[in-house]
Amino acid sequence: MAKLLDYNATLVAREDLEPTLSIFRLRPDVIEHKTEGPWFVPGQYVTIGINREVKEGEDDPRPHSVRRPMSIASPPEDRDELEFYIRKVGEPESDLPLTHQMWPIKVGDRMYCRAVPTGHFTVEGTVGLEDTRLKLCIAAGTGLAPFVSIARSRVRRDPKARLDDLAIVHGASYPTGLGYRAELERYAAENGLRYVPAVSRPGEGWRGWRGRAESICEVARRAEAEDALGLRTGELRPDKVAVLICGLNGTIANTITGLLDRGFIPDNRKLRRGLEIEDDRPATVFWEQYDNTPVIDLKDAALVAELRRTLHAALAR
Ligand SMILES: Cc1cc2nc3c(=O)[nH]c(=O)nc-3n(C[C@H](O)[C@H](O)[C@H](O)COP(=O)(O)OP(=O)(O)OC[C@H]3O[C@@H](n4cnc5c(N)ncnc54)[C@H](O)[C@@H]3O)c2cc1C
Repeated sequence: MAKLLDYNATLVAREDLEPTLSIFRLRPDVIEHKTEGPWFVPGQYVTIGINREVKEGEDDPRPHSVRRPMSIASPPEDRDELEFYIRKVGEPESDLPLTHQMWPIKVGDRMYCRAVPTGHFTVEGTVGLEDTRLKLCIAAGTGLAPFVSIARSRVRRDPKARLDDLAIVHGASYPTGLGYRAELERYAAENGLRYVPAVSRPGEGWRGWRGRAESICEVARRAEAEDALGLRTGELRPDKVAVLICGLNGTIANTITGLLDRGFIPDNRKLRRGLEIEDDRPATVFWEQYDNTPVIDLKDAALVAELRRTLHAALAR
């Protein structure tokens, strides 16, 4: 049973985009900046937590507190605060879901934040800073957070920075779920970001991409996708594009499988082994997964055989 957490951070701002989708800004009491330079790498996450209210005399078997990892949406140039883009989950799996505990909190309330950024889902930790290919960032819902941090940091360091090597495809059910849209549209207009907002349940008047974020990688929509991404016909291929995905397993699985016919190589040891990919082939698809469901069921022999066939046919071309 998790013990009570010592609160060490204050909620300084909150923006509710939908009843179950919000942006939270936390100010930790202390941040140990090791150097004058960036104190984290865009794409990293921290752990935040909250206590359950313990009522005297009540025998409640649930844990006393809950902690979860959250991607940082703010850039490291923000020295004192951290921003998070959070969905209150509809079907939690735990006895004490963090998002349900924290939904009632308001500006001025206290929380726990382990302000020690962690993780390798960064440009540095995946394709490398020197990679000049287009970084195609595919985000479903709150999976946008790491990519916002990446784009923001570059513009914060240099307002005239070029973001032509960055494409962000952000999927939401409705346009109201397209967090950070105005900011990303500004980066598109002023810095060359390729921004593709995707809506899976568009109403009348939606002129942008229709479908989930990962549908940008569907074979049947290739020509439309290349056009939306500002690529020439046939350019959605690994020598021109590296792919970063963030979100839940479905988005990741559909993106990976959609791209196999173009010879994209997933960055996962077990999946590589299942698909019989030689060790010396560099990965071109990287991801950060928010849930625990396996991305591809490697025990499904028929599925794995089909994926293997598709990939190796592409590699043989
Ligand atoms: C490295 C990392 C970074 C993360 N960053 C973020 C983030 O920036 N924003 C964020 O909202 N979540 C993020 N998550 C997910 C987060 O840690 C929690 O899993 C999520 O908030 C649910 O926790 P809970 O305690 O409320 O629900 P739990 O009781 O733990 O329920 C888990 C269920 O919630 C679902 N779920 C998890 N995350 C989401 C989500 N984002 N949207 C919809 N359903 C979800 C899963 O399918 C799972 O079935 C991240 C996870 C990891 C591993």
